[in-house]
Order: sequence, then C-alpha cells, then structure tokens
Amino acid sequence: MKAPSQRMLDVLIAGRGPVGLALAIALDRAGLSVALVGPSPVAPKPLTSHDWDPRVYALSSSTLALLNELHVWDLVDLDRVAPVYAMKVFSDAGADAQSVDFSAYSAGLDALAQIIEHRNLTQALERALRFRDIRVVESGVGGGDIEVFPGHAEWRAEPTSAEPLRARLLIGADGARSRVRAAMGLDGSRHEYDQHAVVANFLGEHSHLDTARQWFGDDGVLALLPLPLDEQRRGRVSLVWSVSGERAAELMALTAEGLAVTVSNAVHGQFGRFEPLSSAQCLPLMRLSARALVASRVALVGDAGHVIHPMAGQGMNLGFGDVATLARVLGQREAERDCGEITLLRRYARARAEPVLAMTLATDGLYRMFYQAPAQIAPLRNLAFRALNQLAFAKRWMVTQAAGATP
Ligand SMILES: Cc1cc2nc3c(=O)[nH]c(=O)nc-3n(C[C@H](O)[C@H](O)[C@H](O)COP(=O)(O)OP(=O)(O)OC[C@H]3O[C@@H](n4cnc5c(N)ncnc54)[C@H](O)[C@@H]3O)c2cc1C
Repeated sequence: MKAPSQRMLDVLIAGRGPVGLALAIALDRAGLSVALVGPSPVAPKPLTSHDWDPRVYALSSSTLALLNELHVWDLVDLDRVAPVYAMKVFSDAGADAQSVDFSAYSAGLDALAQIIEHRNLTQALERALRFRDIRVVESGVGGGDIEVFPGHAEWRAEPTSAEPLRARLLIGADGARSRVRAAMGLDGSRHEYDQHAVVANFLGEHSHLDTARQWFGDDGVLALLPLPLDEQRRGRVSLVWSVSGERAAELMALTAEGLAVTVSNAVHGQFGRFEPLSSAQCLPLMRLSARALVASRVALVGDAGHVIHPMAGQGMNLGFGDVATLARVLGQREAERDCGEITLLRRYARARAEPVLAMTLATDGLYRMFYQAPAQIAPLRNLAFRALNQLAFAKRWMVTQAAGATP
C-alpha cells in the first residue's frame, strides 16, 4: 500500500469565520499542528470614518479575555470599538411601556460589552493568524470529500485531487449551514424564525451615552448599539431590527434616508434625526442545535454547532466560549491521548452543554413570549418588566451570566 505523503496533522479546521480563525490561533498556541481550510478573505476595505460595517458584535468580557490572551485584541483598531456601560430594555411601546435598566457599575464589571464591527474583528484575527505556524488552505469547504477512519479524518479539496489532508481531529467551524455537520450525520433540530434582522448604521444628533437600547414592540425587537461618537460627540449607532419577513422586505425597499426616518420615529426621536452611515443588510434568523457537538474524530464549534436568535447578542460569544473550552481540553490532554479520541472530545461537549442550552432556551423563550403568545398576555409582559427592574440581584445575575463571568 502506498504510504501517505501528507503528514498527519493534529487538527484540521474547516471554516475561516471568526470562530474558526480564533480556534486555529488558540490551538497553535497550545502546541498542536493545525491546518485551516476556507476561502481567502476579500481584500480588506480601508475602514474610514464615513464607512461603518453594518455587521457588528457585542463582545462579552470573557470573549475579550480570550482575544487578549490570543494577542488578537492588540491588533484591533480600538478607535472603532465602543464600550457599553449601560443597557435599557423597553417592553412594548404603549402607554404602559416599562423598562429594565442594566449597568456595568451595579454588576461590578468594567463594561457590559464592547461593540466591534465584523470587518475590524476579522481583520485583526487574519493578521494574528499570519504570526502563527498554521497551514492555511485557501479553498471552499462546500465541495470535496470528508471521510472518517478509526485513527484519523480526511478532507480532500476536490474529488479529483490526489492528496487529502489528514488529521487526528476534524473541526467544523463552517457556520450555520455547516457541511461538516451534515456530512457527519450531526444535523439536529432547526427552526426558521418568522423574523429577519435588518441591520444598518446611523449617526444621531445626540450622544448615545454609551448605552445600548432595545425595544420589544409589536413590530419586532429593535436594538440600537452604540458605536464610537464622532468628533462633535454625536452618537453613531448600529441597528439590529428583528421583524417579520414582510416588514423586513418593506424596510429593505426604503431608501437609506427613508430607513433613517423610520428608525428615528420607531425610537420616538430619542437621538434626534438620523443620518445613514451604511447601506442596510437583511439576514434570516433561525435556531439550530446540532444532534451532538462531537463524534469520533469530529467536533463542531460556533454556529456549526448552535445558532440562536440575536436578541441577546450572544451567538459569537458562545462560539468563542467553545474555542476557549476546546483549546483547554485539547491542550491539557494526557500524553497517551491523541486529539480526536471521543473520550477527550466528550469533555468538551459536556462542558459546553449547559451554557449553550441556557442561552438557546432564554432567547427562544423570550421570542415565544413576545411574538407567539396571545395578545391578552401583553399586560403581563409589562408587569414582568416592572418587577424585574426592582430586582437588583436578578439583574446583576443576568448581566454576569451574559458576560460569561461568575456572579
Ligand atoms: C443580526 C445578527 C446580529 C448578531 N449580533 C451578535 C452580537 O452582538 N454578539 C454575538 O456574540 N453574536 C451575534 N450574532 C451571532 C454571530 O453573528 C454568529 O454567532 C457568528 O458569526 C458565528 O461565527 P462562526 O465563525 O461560527 O460562523 P460564520 O461567521 O458563519 O463563519 C463560518 C465560516 O465558514 C466558512 N464557510 C461556511 N460555509 C462554507 C462553504 N460552503 N465553503 C467555504 N467556506 C464556508 C466561511 O469562511 C465562513 O466565514 C449575531 C447574528 C446576527 C444574525
């Protein structure tokens, strides 16, 4: 039998999104041999003060700790990152509208979150990758063959290519439509929400006071996240508006100025007039849970393993939680174990089960309470909001859970 010429790697990661990139860096730092497969990033667009990426993430303090440890945060353009010191969540827009206020100060945290653009984050991760000894294979992971053997997994870029990549462990970091998950028979439950997220950025007339705001209205969930203030201390904000497919189509049909007026009206002019800072994008929303996060020689991380509604801004943070846990489990394995052994991988799956389930149930429960429950219970929602706002301990607990910190 012909001996394989490709050396056996410890880990092969399929997917070059934020989670796959962070995992590659973390595992290389842990001393593992790593290959990363994914299409090369589009040529980086210079980030200017008039051009703001409408895809932004609210990163928790535990995600920041990971990015600092990986020396990725040093490479982020910090002038384009905004801290969130407070958050106001409003229930319904009616006369009886209630709000729950969260603050970093009351929860004993430096900040509730840091808001970063997708482009700023991925450019920092791609730059950090160049400092590591990671084999990068610039190819789609949509085609090609994946095969699992008792001692290793193989991935062949094209069915015709002679030499597959071989690794003890194959990791699917290839997002919600993961090919690795499907090929390994790990597809689990999937539910398309009757909502799409419309995202866009605006410049308001007033400061946002480093506060994130979210409205649970009849129209859907509207969130305005703070971006850095401009030179005149006017607030730039990033919109995530989760609405029905029909309403999303109406919003997407508006001009940039028309959308700015509609959003300004929806938030009762709290920021004055809005000026558009980006074009709008529309993203379908779903909930997805893989049947299992691991199988022999295979593990899933990030959206490949779990997708949640974005109302809590936690999907990426869960993905980075997977990265921190898997890197710890593989880096601390016993000398006699290789990284693809199922006994080892189960430690990762067990450690992630509870935080992933808790966040999936919380976001799905809120969605059902607001958008699938009968109209008669609307007054109860306002009551629940009012009661929660009085419970300092409960609010502190919720904030520390979302931050990934111990209360
Ligand atoms: C509107 C919205 C707002 C959100 N806001 C937040 C937030 O504030 N905070 C937060 O924590 N999370 C947020 N999320 C969730 C977050 O966007 C995801 O959890 C995160 O992007 C998952 O990252 P990932 O690397 O796992 O997957 P992805 O970002 O989907 O990356 C997967 C990668 O896999 C590769 N890939 C996939 N398929 C193929 C293929 N066929 N061929 C080749 N390559 C492929 C690509 O390289 C792709 O980049 C939000 C989500 C939405 C929709």
